[in-house]
Amino acid sequence: MNYISTRSKIKPISSAEAILQGLAADGGLFVPESIPRMKLDDINALVNMTYSQRAVAILRQYLTDYTDNELAECAELAYDWFDVPSKVPLSILIRDPQNTKSPVGVMELWHGPTSAFKDLALQMLPQLMSKALKKIGETKEILILVATSGDTGKAALAGFADVPQTKIMVFYPDGGVSKIQRLQMVTQIGKNVNVVAVNGNFDDCQNGVKKIFSDENIRAELEKANVKLSSANSINWGRLVPQIVYYFSSYAEFVKAGSIKLGDLVNVIVPTGNFGNILAAYYARRMGLPVKKLICASNINNVLTDFFNTGVYNRNREFHKTVSPSMDILISSNLERLLYHETGGDIKAVKRYMTELQTTGKYKIDTPLKKKLDKIFYADFATEEETASIIKEVFGNFKYLVDTHTAVAMQVLGKYRRATKDMLPVILASTASPFKFTSSVLNALGEKFEGLDDFAQFDKLSLLSNKKVPKNLAALETAKILHENICDQEEMPQRVLEFAAR
Ligand SMILES: *Cc1c(COP(=O)(O)O)cnc(C)c1O
Repeated sequence: MNYISTRSKIKPISSAEAILQGLAADGGLFVPESIPRMKLDDINALVNMTYSQRAVAILRQYLTDYTDNELAECAELAYDWFDVPSKVPLSILIRDPQNTKSPVGVMELWHGPTSAFKDLALQMLPQLMSKALKKIGETKEILILVATSGDTGKAALAGFADVPQTKIMVFYPDGGVSKIQRLQMVTQIGKNVNVVAVNGNFDDCQNGVKKIFSDENIRAELEKANVKLSSANSINWGRLVPQIVYYFSSYAEFVKAGSIKLGDLVNVIVPTGNFGNILAAYYARRMGLPVKKLICASNINNVLTDFFNTGVYNRNREFHKTVSPSMDILISSNLERLLYHETGGDIKAVKRYMTELQTTGKYKIDTPLKKKLDKIFYADFATEEETASIIKEVFGNFKYLVDTHTAVAMQVLGKYRRATKDMLPVILASTASPFKFTSSVLNALGEKFEGLDDFAQFDKLSLLSNKKVPKNLAALETAKILHENICDQEEMPQRVLEFAAR
Protein backbone atom coordinates (compact mmCIF):
# COMPACT_ATOMS: atom_id res chain seq x y z
CA MET A 1 0.00 0.00 0.00
CA ASN A 2 1.39 3.37 -1.01
CA TYR A 3 0.38 6.88 -0.02
CA ILE A 4 -0.50 9.91 -2.12
CA SER A 5 -1.50 13.51 -1.40
CA THR A 6 -5.04 14.92 -1.21
CA ARG A 7 -4.07 18.06 -3.18
CA SER A 8 -1.92 17.18 -6.18
CA LYS A 9 -0.37 14.28 -8.06
CA ILE A 10 2.79 13.17 -6.24
CA LYS A 11 5.00 10.13 -6.55
CA PRO A 12 3.43 7.51 -4.24
CA ILE A 13 5.47 6.83 -1.11
CA SER A 14 5.61 4.01 1.44
CA SER A 15 3.80 4.25 4.78
CA ALA A 16 7.12 4.60 6.62
CA GLU A 17 7.92 7.66 4.51
CA ALA A 18 4.43 9.11 4.93
CA ILE A 19 4.67 8.71 8.71
CA LEU A 20 8.07 10.40 8.85
CA GLN A 21 7.05 13.27 6.55
CA GLY A 22 3.74 13.95 8.31
CA LEU A 23 2.43 16.48 5.78
CA ALA A 24 2.86 16.27 2.00
CA ALA A 25 5.09 18.92 0.39
CA ASP A 26 2.07 20.41 -1.44
CA GLY A 27 0.33 21.07 1.90
CA GLY A 28 -2.02 18.13 1.42
CA LEU A 29 -2.54 15.12 3.68
CA PHE A 30 -1.34 11.61 2.93
CA VAL A 31 -4.05 9.10 2.04
CA PRO A 32 -3.78 5.42 1.10
CA GLU A 33 -4.03 4.70 -2.64
CA SER A 34 -6.92 2.35 -1.94
CA ILE A 35 -8.95 1.26 1.06
CA PRO A 36 -8.56 -2.40 2.04
CA ARG A 37 -11.61 -4.61 2.66
CA MET A 38 -12.35 -6.88 5.62
CA LYS A 39 -14.80 -9.73 5.05
CA LEU A 40 -17.16 -10.82 7.81
CA ASP A 41 -14.97 -13.88 8.35
CA ASP A 42 -12.02 -11.58 8.96
CA ILE A 43 -14.05 -9.62 11.49
CA ASN A 44 -15.19 -12.84 13.12
CA ALA A 45 -11.56 -13.85 13.55
CA LEU A 46 -11.01 -10.71 15.66
CA VAL A 47 -13.49 -11.82 18.31
CA ASN A 48 -11.09 -14.12 20.12
CA MET A 49 -7.98 -12.00 19.69
CA THR A 50 -6.25 -9.69 22.17
CA TYR A 51 -6.26 -5.96 21.45
CA SER A 52 -2.66 -6.10 20.21
CA GLN A 53 -3.49 -8.95 17.84
CA ARG A 54 -6.46 -7.02 16.52
CA ALA A 55 -4.17 -4.03 16.01
CA VAL A 56 -1.80 -6.13 13.89
CA ALA A 57 -4.72 -7.52 11.86
CA ILE A 58 -5.85 -4.01 10.89
CA LEU A 59 -2.53 -2.19 10.67
CA ARG A 60 -0.91 -4.80 8.42
CA GLN A 61 -3.34 -3.90 5.65
CA TYR A 62 -2.27 -0.26 5.62
CA LEU A 63 1.35 -0.46 6.76
CA THR A 64 2.42 -3.10 4.29
CA ASP A 65 6.10 -2.16 4.52
CA TYR A 66 6.14 -3.24 8.20
CA THR A 67 6.39 -6.94 9.05
CA ASP A 68 3.76 -8.54 11.30
CA ASN A 69 6.48 -9.00 13.92
CA GLU A 70 7.34 -5.32 13.81
CA LEU A 71 3.70 -4.33 14.15
CA ALA A 72 3.20 -6.75 17.04
CA GLU A 73 6.23 -5.25 18.77
CA CYS A 74 4.88 -1.71 18.21
CA ALA A 75 1.50 -2.70 19.65
CA GLU A 76 3.05 -4.35 22.72
CA LEU A 77 5.27 -1.35 23.45
CA ALA A 78 2.39 1.07 22.87
CA TYR A 79 -0.37 -0.59 24.85
CA ASP A 80 1.45 -2.68 27.47
CA TRP A 81 0.91 -0.17 30.24
CA PHE A 82 -2.79 0.56 29.75
CA ASP A 83 -4.62 -0.01 33.03
CA VAL A 84 -6.99 -2.78 31.85
CA PRO A 85 -6.05 -6.02 30.02
CA SER A 86 -8.59 -5.38 27.24
CA LYS A 87 -6.99 -1.91 26.59
CA VAL A 88 -10.25 -0.49 25.17
CA PRO A 89 -13.16 -1.97 27.15
CA LEU A 90 -16.72 -1.67 25.88
CA SER A 91 -19.11 -0.78 28.71
CA ILE A 92 -22.53 -1.83 27.57
CA LEU A 93 -25.42 0.20 28.89
CA ILE A 94 -28.37 -2.09 28.28
CA ARG A 95 -30.64 0.82 27.73
CA ASP A 96 -29.61 4.09 26.21
CA PRO A 97 -29.86 7.32 28.16
CA GLN A 98 -33.45 7.63 26.98
CA ASN A 99 -34.38 4.26 28.47
CA THR A 100 -35.12 2.24 25.37
CA LYS A 101 -34.05 -1.37 24.82
CA SER A 102 -31.32 -0.89 22.28
CA PRO A 103 -27.78 -1.39 23.65
CA VAL A 104 -25.26 1.41 23.75
CA GLY A 105 -21.66 0.22 23.86
CA VAL A 106 -19.52 2.90 25.45
CA MET A 107 -16.06 2.45 23.98
CA GLU A 108 -13.72 3.58 26.77
CA LEU A 109 -10.73 5.08 25.03
CA TRP A 110 -9.14 6.47 28.18
CA HIS A 111 -7.28 3.65 29.89
CA GLY A 112 -3.87 4.82 28.71
CA PRO A 113 -1.15 6.77 30.53
CA THR A 114 -2.84 10.20 30.30
CA SER A 115 -6.48 9.06 30.66
CA ALA A 116 -7.59 10.44 27.28
CA PHE A 117 -8.18 8.89 23.87
CA LYS A 118 -5.17 10.58 22.28
CA ASP A 119 -3.04 7.94 24.00
CA LEU A 120 -4.28 5.27 21.57
CA ALA A 121 -2.63 7.16 18.72
CA LEU A 122 0.22 8.91 20.51
CA GLN A 123 1.49 5.70 22.07
CA MET A 124 1.62 4.03 18.67
CA LEU A 125 2.98 6.85 16.49
CA PRO A 126 6.44 7.01 18.18
CA GLN A 127 6.86 3.24 17.81
CA LEU A 128 5.91 3.42 14.14
CA MET A 129 8.30 6.37 13.63
CA SER A 130 11.17 4.62 15.36
CA LYS A 131 10.77 1.57 13.10
CA ALA A 132 10.30 3.80 10.03
CA LEU A 133 13.69 5.44 10.66
CA LYS A 134 15.41 2.06 10.54
CA LYS A 135 13.46 0.99 7.48
CA ILE A 136 14.51 3.90 5.32
CA GLY A 137 18.04 3.93 6.73
CA GLU A 138 17.76 7.34 8.37
CA THR A 139 20.61 7.79 10.85
CA LYS A 140 19.64 11.23 12.14
CA GLU A 141 17.70 11.71 15.35
CA ILE A 142 14.14 12.96 15.05
CA LEU A 143 13.24 15.92 17.26
CA ILE A 144 9.51 16.32 17.79
CA LEU A 145 8.38 19.86 18.58
CA VAL A 146 4.97 20.38 20.17
CA ALA A 147 3.10 23.53 21.15
CA THR A 148 0.29 22.57 23.48
CA SER A 149 -2.69 24.17 25.13
CA GLY A 150 -2.79 21.27 27.57
CA ASP A 151 -3.60 17.67 26.73
CA THR A 152 -1.66 16.87 23.57
CA GLY A 153 1.65 17.84 25.19
CA LYS A 154 1.41 15.23 27.90
CA ALA A 155 0.13 12.49 25.63
CA ALA A 156 2.99 13.15 23.18
CA LEU A 157 5.57 13.22 25.99
CA ALA A 158 4.32 9.92 27.36
CA GLY A 159 4.40 8.39 23.90
CA PHE A 160 7.90 9.49 22.91
CA ALA A 161 9.65 9.11 26.28
CA ASP A 162 12.72 6.92 25.80
CA VAL A 163 11.77 5.83 22.27
CA PRO A 164 15.09 5.17 20.44
CA GLN A 165 16.35 7.77 17.94
CA THR A 166 13.74 10.34 18.98
CA LYS A 167 13.65 13.42 21.21
CA ILE A 168 10.64 15.47 22.20
CA MET A 169 10.32 19.09 23.28
CA VAL A 170 7.03 20.59 24.45
CA PHE A 171 6.22 24.30 24.83
CA TYR A 172 3.19 25.36 26.87
CA PRO A 173 1.90 28.84 27.82
CA ASP A 174 3.01 29.77 31.35
CA GLY A 175 -0.16 30.09 33.41
CA GLY A 176 -2.24 29.06 30.38
CA VAL A 177 -2.86 25.40 31.27
CA SER A 178 -4.60 23.87 34.28
CA LYS A 179 -2.61 22.95 37.37
CA ILE A 180 -3.09 19.25 36.66
CA GLN A 181 -2.08 19.63 33.00
CA ARG A 182 1.08 21.48 34.06
CA LEU A 183 1.93 18.84 36.66
CA GLN A 184 1.39 16.08 34.11
CA MET A 185 3.99 17.67 31.83
CA VAL A 186 6.62 18.96 34.25
CA THR A 187 6.88 15.61 36.04
CA GLN A 188 7.51 13.66 32.82
CA ILE A 189 10.36 11.16 33.13
CA GLY A 190 12.61 10.21 30.20
CA LYS A 191 16.14 10.85 28.94
CA ASN A 192 14.90 12.34 25.65
CA VAL A 193 12.19 14.72 26.90
CA ASN A 194 12.17 18.45 27.56
CA VAL A 195 9.33 20.74 28.68
CA VAL A 196 9.49 24.54 28.60
CA ALA A 197 6.98 27.15 29.74
CA VAL A 198 6.70 30.20 27.48
CA ASN A 199 5.95 33.74 28.65
CA GLY A 200 2.85 34.25 26.52
CA ASN A 201 -0.32 32.47 25.43
CA PHE A 202 -0.91 29.36 23.32
CA ASP A 203 -0.71 31.32 20.05
CA ASP A 204 2.74 32.59 21.06
CA CYS A 205 3.88 28.99 21.64
CA GLN A 206 2.41 27.84 18.35
CA ASN A 207 3.84 30.74 16.36
CA GLY A 208 7.22 30.16 17.99
CA VAL A 209 7.16 26.51 16.92
CA LYS A 210 5.97 27.37 13.40
CA LYS A 211 8.83 29.87 13.00
CA ILE A 212 11.35 27.25 14.04
CA PHE A 213 9.96 24.79 11.48
CA SER A 214 10.29 27.33 8.66
CA ASP A 215 13.71 28.72 9.67
CA GLU A 216 16.39 27.48 7.26
CA ASN A 217 19.21 28.54 9.57
CA ILE A 218 17.93 26.49 12.46
CA ARG A 219 17.43 23.50 10.21
CA ALA A 220 21.02 23.83 9.01
CA GLU A 221 22.29 24.10 12.59
CA LEU A 222 20.29 21.02 13.56
CA GLU A 223 21.58 19.17 10.54
CA LYS A 224 25.10 19.63 11.93
CA ALA A 225 23.98 18.11 15.21
CA ASN A 226 22.54 15.18 13.22
CA VAL A 227 18.96 16.10 14.12
CA LYS A 228 15.84 16.41 11.97
CA LEU A 229 12.65 18.21 13.03
CA SER A 230 9.24 16.57 12.93
CA SER A 231 5.80 16.93 14.49
CA ALA A 232 3.29 14.61 16.12
CA ASN A 233 0.34 16.41 14.58
CA SER A 234 -3.09 14.80 14.45
CA ILE A 235 -3.00 14.84 10.65
CA ASN A 236 -0.07 12.38 10.56
CA TRP A 237 -1.19 9.08 9.04
CA GLY A 238 0.65 7.31 11.85
CA ARG A 239 -1.75 8.89 14.32
CA LEU A 240 -4.86 8.17 12.33
CA VAL A 241 -4.35 4.54 11.43
CA PRO A 242 -4.14 3.20 15.03
CA GLN A 243 -7.56 4.73 15.62
CA ILE A 244 -9.22 2.50 13.03
CA VAL A 245 -8.37 -0.51 15.20
CA TYR A 246 -10.67 0.27 18.11
CA TYR A 247 -13.80 0.44 15.98
CA PHE A 248 -13.20 -3.12 14.80
CA SER A 249 -12.19 -4.14 18.29
CA SER A 250 -15.35 -2.70 19.85
CA TYR A 251 -17.56 -4.34 17.24
CA ALA A 252 -15.85 -7.64 18.09
CA GLU A 253 -16.45 -6.98 21.81
CA PHE A 254 -20.12 -6.29 21.07
CA VAL A 255 -20.38 -9.65 19.28
CA LYS A 256 -18.46 -11.41 22.04
CA ALA A 257 -20.83 -10.00 24.66
CA GLY A 258 -23.80 -11.35 22.72
CA SER A 259 -25.34 -7.89 22.34
CA ILE A 260 -25.23 -8.14 18.55
CA LYS A 261 -24.68 -10.92 16.01
CA LEU A 262 -21.85 -10.88 13.50
CA GLY A 263 -23.00 -8.82 10.54
CA ASP A 264 -25.60 -6.77 12.44
CA LEU A 265 -25.53 -3.08 11.60
CA VAL A 266 -24.60 -0.57 14.29
CA ASN A 267 -24.38 3.20 14.41
CA VAL A 268 -21.22 4.93 15.59
CA ILE A 269 -21.23 8.24 17.43
CA VAL A 270 -18.15 10.33 18.09
CA PRO A 271 -17.57 13.60 19.98
CA THR A 272 -15.64 15.47 17.35
CA GLY A 273 -13.08 18.27 17.14
CA ASN A 274 -10.37 17.91 14.54
CA PHE A 275 -12.32 15.11 12.77
CA GLY A 276 -9.58 12.52 13.38
CA ASN A 277 -11.48 10.06 15.52
CA ILE A 278 -14.63 9.97 13.40
CA LEU A 279 -12.57 9.79 10.21
CA ALA A 280 -11.04 6.58 11.56
CA ALA A 281 -14.60 5.28 11.96
CA TYR A 282 -15.23 6.26 8.34
CA TYR A 283 -12.26 4.16 7.21
CA ALA A 284 -13.55 1.24 9.30
CA ARG A 285 -16.93 1.56 7.59
CA ARG A 286 -15.34 1.70 4.14
CA MET A 287 -13.32 -1.38 5.04
CA GLY A 288 -16.53 -3.31 5.61
CA LEU A 289 -17.37 -2.87 9.28
CA PRO A 290 -21.20 -3.11 9.43
CA VAL A 291 -21.89 0.53 10.30
CA LYS A 292 -24.98 2.36 9.09
CA LYS A 293 -24.52 5.96 10.20
CA LEU A 294 -21.57 7.90 11.51
CA ILE A 295 -22.95 10.47 13.90
CA CYS A 296 -20.82 13.56 14.33
CA ALA A 297 -21.38 15.22 17.72
CA SER A 298 -20.16 18.76 18.38
CA ASN A 299 -20.34 21.24 21.22
CA ILE A 300 -21.48 24.82 20.56
CA ASN A 301 -18.45 25.30 18.30
CA ASN A 302 -20.72 23.54 15.83
CA VAL A 303 -19.01 24.28 12.54
CA LEU A 304 -19.26 20.58 11.58
CA THR A 305 -22.97 20.35 12.42
CA ASP A 306 -23.59 23.22 10.02
CA PHE A 307 -21.28 21.69 7.42
CA PHE A 308 -23.08 18.35 7.31
CA ASN A 309 -26.51 19.97 7.39
CA THR A 310 -25.95 22.74 4.83
CA GLY A 311 -22.89 21.76 2.79
CA VAL A 312 -21.17 25.00 3.78
CA TYR A 313 -18.06 24.93 5.91
CA ASN A 314 -17.75 28.35 7.53
CA ARG A 315 -15.18 29.07 10.18
CA ASN A 316 -16.05 32.77 10.31
CA ARG A 317 -17.91 32.66 13.59
CA GLU A 318 -17.44 33.33 17.26
CA PHE A 319 -15.18 30.94 19.13
CA HIS A 320 -16.62 29.60 22.39
CA LYS A 321 -14.71 28.25 25.36
CA THR A 322 -16.69 25.26 26.62
CA VAL A 323 -16.60 22.51 29.25
CA SER A 324 -15.45 20.15 26.47
CA PRO A 325 -12.29 22.11 25.53
CA SER A 326 -10.73 19.40 23.35
CA MET A 327 -13.57 19.98 20.88
CA ASP A 328 -13.20 23.76 20.81
CA ILE A 329 -11.95 23.79 17.24
CA LEU A 330 -13.04 25.76 14.18
CA ILE A 331 -10.81 24.12 11.58
CA SER A 332 -11.23 20.36 11.45
CA SER A 333 -8.11 19.47 9.46
CA ASN A 334 -8.86 15.80 8.87
CA LEU A 335 -12.06 16.62 6.99
CA GLU A 336 -9.80 17.09 3.97
CA ARG A 337 -9.25 13.33 3.80
CA LEU A 338 -13.01 12.70 3.77
CA LEU A 339 -13.47 15.18 0.92
CA TYR A 340 -10.73 13.41 -1.00
CA HIS A 341 -12.26 9.96 -0.64
CA GLU A 342 -15.87 10.99 -1.22
CA THR A 343 -15.03 12.98 -4.36
CA GLY A 344 -13.39 9.82 -5.68
CA GLY A 345 -9.93 11.35 -5.34
CA ASP A 346 -10.69 14.66 -7.07
CA ILE A 347 -7.50 16.50 -6.08
CA LYS A 348 -8.50 19.64 -7.98
CA ALA A 349 -11.76 19.96 -6.04
CA VAL A 350 -10.05 19.30 -2.69
CA LYS A 351 -7.38 21.87 -3.44
CA ARG A 352 -10.04 24.41 -4.43
CA TYR A 353 -12.02 23.88 -1.21
CA MET A 354 -8.91 24.13 0.93
CA THR A 355 -7.70 27.27 -0.84
CA GLU A 356 -11.11 28.88 -0.35
CA LEU A 357 -11.02 27.92 3.32
CA GLN A 358 -7.63 29.55 3.68
CA THR A 359 -8.48 32.76 1.84
CA THR A 360 -12.14 33.33 2.78
CA GLY A 361 -12.61 31.07 5.78
CA LYS A 362 -15.35 29.08 4.07
CA TYR A 363 -16.31 26.82 1.17
CA LYS A 364 -19.43 25.14 -0.18
CA ILE A 365 -19.36 21.58 -1.46
CA ASP A 366 -21.27 20.69 -4.61
CA THR A 367 -24.62 18.90 -4.51
CA PRO A 368 -23.50 15.38 -5.57
CA LEU A 369 -20.89 15.38 -2.79
CA LYS A 370 -23.39 16.69 -0.26
CA LYS A 371 -25.79 13.87 -1.20
CA LYS A 372 -23.06 11.28 -0.70
CA LEU A 373 -22.20 12.62 2.74
CA ASP A 374 -25.90 12.65 3.72
CA LYS A 375 -26.01 8.88 3.22
CA ILE A 376 -23.13 8.30 5.61
CA PHE A 377 -23.25 11.05 8.23
CA TYR A 378 -25.63 12.64 10.68
CA ALA A 379 -24.59 15.67 12.69
CA ASP A 380 -25.89 17.62 15.65
CA PHE A 381 -24.54 19.45 18.69
CA ALA A 382 -25.12 19.82 22.43
CA THR A 383 -25.30 23.09 24.37
CA GLU A 384 -23.41 23.59 27.60
CA GLU A 385 -26.58 23.02 29.66
CA GLU A 386 -27.44 19.85 27.72
CA THR A 387 -23.93 18.54 28.29
CA ALA A 388 -24.21 19.01 32.04
CA SER A 389 -27.73 17.61 32.27
CA ILE A 390 -26.92 14.35 30.48
CA ILE A 391 -23.97 13.68 32.84
CA LYS A 392 -26.40 13.84 35.73
CA GLU A 393 -29.09 11.83 33.93
CA VAL A 394 -26.77 9.01 32.87
CA PHE A 395 -25.25 8.82 36.33
CA GLY A 396 -28.72 8.70 37.83
CA ASN A 397 -29.95 5.98 35.47
CA PHE A 398 -26.89 3.77 35.23
CA LYS A 399 -24.48 4.83 38.01
CA TYR A 400 -22.14 5.36 35.06
CA LEU A 401 -20.04 8.50 35.03
CA VAL A 402 -18.96 10.19 31.80
CA ASP A 403 -16.73 13.17 31.11
CA THR A 404 -17.94 16.31 29.34
CA HIS A 405 -16.83 15.22 25.83
CA THR A 406 -18.51 11.84 26.08
CA ALA A 407 -21.58 13.65 27.41
CA VAL A 408 -21.83 15.68 24.20
CA ALA A 409 -22.01 12.42 22.24
CA MET A 410 -24.65 10.97 24.59
CA GLN A 411 -26.82 14.05 24.28
CA VAL A 412 -26.55 14.00 20.47
CA LEU A 413 -27.37 10.28 20.44
CA GLY A 414 -30.68 11.07 22.14
CA LYS A 415 -31.37 13.80 19.59
CA TYR A 416 -30.56 11.42 16.73
CA ARG A 417 -32.85 8.70 18.01
CA ARG A 418 -35.73 11.09 18.64
CA ALA A 419 -35.33 12.68 15.20
CA THR A 420 -34.90 9.49 13.15
CA LYS A 421 -36.47 6.73 15.27
CA ASP A 422 -33.41 4.69 14.27
CA MET A 423 -32.79 2.43 17.27
CA LEU A 424 -29.85 0.38 16.01
CA PRO A 425 -27.27 -0.60 18.62
CA VAL A 426 -24.62 2.07 19.03
CA ILE A 427 -20.90 2.23 19.59
CA LEU A 428 -20.28 5.52 21.38
CA ALA A 429 -16.75 6.88 21.65
CA SER A 430 -15.89 7.88 25.20
CA THR A 431 -12.83 10.07 24.83
CA ALA A 432 -11.70 10.98 28.35
CA SER A 433 -11.88 9.73 31.90
CA PRO A 434 -14.34 11.79 33.98
CA PHE A 435 -11.43 12.44 36.34
CA LYS A 436 -9.74 14.47 33.62
CA PHE A 437 -12.50 17.04 33.91
CA THR A 438 -13.32 16.65 37.58
CA SER A 439 -14.62 20.12 38.37
CA SER A 440 -16.95 20.26 35.34
CA VAL A 441 -18.28 16.80 36.18
CA LEU A 442 -18.82 17.69 39.86
CA ASN A 443 -20.58 20.84 38.71
CA ALA A 444 -22.85 18.85 36.42
CA LEU A 445 -23.75 16.53 39.27
CA GLY A 446 -24.70 19.55 41.38
CA GLU A 447 -21.96 18.88 43.94
CA LYS A 448 -20.33 21.67 45.95
CA PHE A 449 -16.54 21.70 45.98
CA GLU A 450 -15.51 25.20 46.94
CA GLY A 451 -12.18 25.29 48.72
CA LEU A 452 -11.23 21.77 47.60
CA ASP A 453 -7.98 21.54 45.62
CA ASP A 454 -7.69 19.27 42.56
CA PHE A 455 -6.67 16.24 44.57
CA ALA A 456 -9.46 16.63 47.10
CA GLN A 457 -11.85 16.93 44.12
CA PHE A 458 -10.49 13.65 42.75
CA ASP A 459 -11.27 11.99 46.08
CA LYS A 460 -14.75 13.44 46.16
CA LEU A 461 -15.55 12.20 42.66
CA SER A 462 -14.03 8.83 43.49
CA LEU A 463 -16.28 8.41 46.53
CA LEU A 464 -19.36 9.49 44.61
CA SER A 465 -18.78 7.25 41.62
CA ASN A 466 -17.17 4.34 43.44
CA LYS A 467 -14.36 4.41 40.88
CA LYS A 468 -10.65 4.66 41.61
CA VAL A 469 -8.80 7.83 40.61
CA PRO A 470 -6.62 6.83 37.62
CA LYS A 471 -3.11 6.07 38.90
CA ASN A 472 -1.40 8.57 36.61
CA LEU A 473 -3.52 11.41 38.01
CA ALA A 474 -3.36 10.38 41.67
CA ALA A 475 0.44 10.08 41.45
CA LEU A 476 0.82 13.74 40.49
CA GLU A 477 0.31 14.89 44.07
CA THR A 478 3.72 13.56 45.09
CA ALA A 479 5.56 13.32 41.75
CA LYS A 480 8.91 15.09 41.45
CA ILE A 481 9.02 18.26 39.33
CA LEU A 482 11.69 17.73 36.68
CA HIS A 483 11.16 20.60 34.25
CA GLU A 484 11.14 24.18 35.52
CA ASN A 485 12.45 25.95 32.42
CA ILE A 486 10.78 29.10 31.23
CA CYS A 487 11.59 31.36 28.27
CA ASP A 488 10.30 34.15 26.01
CA GLN A 489 9.04 33.35 22.53
CA GLU A 490 12.22 34.88 21.04
CA GLU A 491 14.37 32.44 23.01
CA MET A 492 12.62 29.31 21.75
CA PRO A 493 15.02 28.62 18.84
CA GLN A 494 18.00 28.84 21.18
CA ARG A 495 16.38 26.39 23.60
CA VAL A 496 15.71 23.96 20.78
CA LEU A 497 19.33 24.09 19.60
CA GLU A 498 20.60 23.53 23.15
CA PHE A 499 18.33 20.55 23.65
CA ALA A 500 19.23 19.09 20.25
CA ALA A 501 22.92 19.21 21.14
CA ARG A 502 22.37 17.43 24.42
C1 LIG B 1 -8.99 15.41 20.92
C2 LIG B 1 -10.24 15.08 21.66
C3 LIG B 1 -11.49 15.03 21.02
C4 LIG B 1 -11.69 15.34 19.55
O1 LIG B 1 -11.16 14.34 18.72
P1 LIG B 1 -10.86 14.66 17.17
O2 LIG B 1 -10.13 13.47 16.68
O3 LIG B 1 -9.98 15.89 17.20
O4 LIG B 1 -12.14 14.90 16.50
C5 LIG B 1 -12.61 14.67 21.78
N1 LIG B 1 -12.50 14.43 23.10
C6 LIG B 1 -11.32 14.48 23.76
C7 LIG B 1 -11.28 14.21 25.22
C8 LIG B 1 -10.15 14.80 23.06
O5 LIG B 1 -8.98 14.86 23.72
